[in-house]
Amino acid sequence: MSEAVAPVVEVFSSFQGEGLLVGVRQVFVRLAGCPLSCAYCDTAAARQATAVCRVWHEPVGGVSEDLPNPVAASRVAAIVSGMVAAAPHHSVSFTGGEPLLHPDFVVAMAQRMAAGGLQSYLDTACCLPDAMARVAPLMDWVAADYKLPSTIAQPVPFEDFAVCWSQIAGERFVKLVVTGEVSRSEILEFCRQMQATDPKARIVLQPVTPVVPGVEPPRPDLLYVLAATCAEYFADVRVIPQCHRLVGVR
Ligand code: SF4
Repeated sequence: MSEAVAPVVEVFSSFQGEGLLVGVRQVFVRLAGCPLSCAYCDTAAARQATAVCRVWHEPVGGVSEDLPNPVAASRVAAIVSGMVAAAPHHSVSFTGGEPLLHPDFVVAMAQRMAAGGLQSYLDTACCLPDAMARVAPLMDWVAADYKLPSTIAQPVPFEDFAVCWSQIAGERFVKLVVTGEVSRSEILEFCRQMQATDPKARIVLQPVTPVVPGVEPPRPDLLYVLAATCAEYFADVRVIPQCHRLVGVR
């Protein structure tokens, strides 16, 4: 059987800047391609396949190496293992783009990581249930990024999100990126649907980082209202911005 390959944008070591694992050291494997188009997308380059995979051998700037795409899972696994040998890491993060576009690659990598004792973390929009069914059993953590309707031209059906959510066996949380355009009514609709799916879901509201022109974060009063609305339905609701940007790391 041929080895799994995928177009990879970059591989680098940094701190997780979002969600419940904010602050842990991870190796990030950023996969190319995404079927969605969020208004606030800050990784637009990752939505297209790139000719090369850039490997950042130093956590901050420094030496990099370009590998021709697509890259074999064994090659990327060896690079990740080298980074983990050089400094302790909590896990490898599969991010994008949308990593579920490349389930064979993610599965092959996660199996290798597990054999080496490293946890796997998936950052996904939960928009591809069939791929999720294959990938989810190997993930120790999943950040499930639900796209609120006002933040995307073609929303992911909640039913697809719920099917993906139900397949996750490890730790999980929902991340909602919140812009100044998000309304209480759409948060309310999400909460009702999500509570029916999993009343114990942990919810992270992430105020958007204003890096895309015209996309602004919510005012503090709106953020309080949105968080209070979520708290009517769920016991664990947190507001966490993108922390990696605060300290100027990738
Ligand atoms: S899912 Fe992620 S990569 Fe895709 S458009 Fe949205 S923010 Fe960008």
